[in-house]
Amino acid sequence: MHIIYLLLGGNIGEREKMLQSATLELSEHVGKKLANSAMYETAAWGKEAQPKFLNSVLAMATTLSAHDVLIEIQKIENLLGRQRDELWGARTLDIDILFYDHEIIQTRELTIPHPFIQDRRFVLVPLSEIAPDLQHPTLKKTIAELLASCPDQLEVTKIN
Ligand code: AMP
Repeated sequence: MHIIYLLLGGNIGEREKMLQSATLELSEHVGKKLANSAMYETAAWGKEAQPKFLNSVLAMATTLSAHDVLIEIQKIENLLGRQRDELWGARTLDIDILFYDHEIIQTRELTIPHPFIQDRRFVLVPLSEIAPDLQHPTLKKTIAELLASCPDQLEVTKIN
């Protein structure tokens, strides 16, 4: 069994339903859900003149390889109607692999740990809700420590 952390996000359409459907699909095709954060509303990063995102983080136990997790999440993104257009642009659903156990993976398709974890409050805030003591395998700091030193100013608000 491998423990993975996934970031889910979307900023068009029925964002809550999209994240709920994505979570169900992940439970069916990737593994057992161990924990999930609340949903957080965040200003769009990189290009701000677009709708706000909803984000959440899931911890799952899976028997799949990291590469096979990527294949499954891409299927789910396509199934749930992701529109692949511009980089940083509006999207119905985006799923990123944040961590795969404590592995460091660098291939043509995958960079794990995800390279932007430490830069973005919309990743660190939900992640710290479910895994504050998780140690980043290359930065050697916990998620709580990374959040405390993150320079990102974008607002990240928990929704009920
Ligand atoms: P994006 O849709 O902008 O998030 O980019 C998707 C592409 O990023 C995919 O085709 C993956 O091959 C690549 N990628 C690299 N590292 C990761 C990761 N840790 N999680 C998800 N996708 C990744």
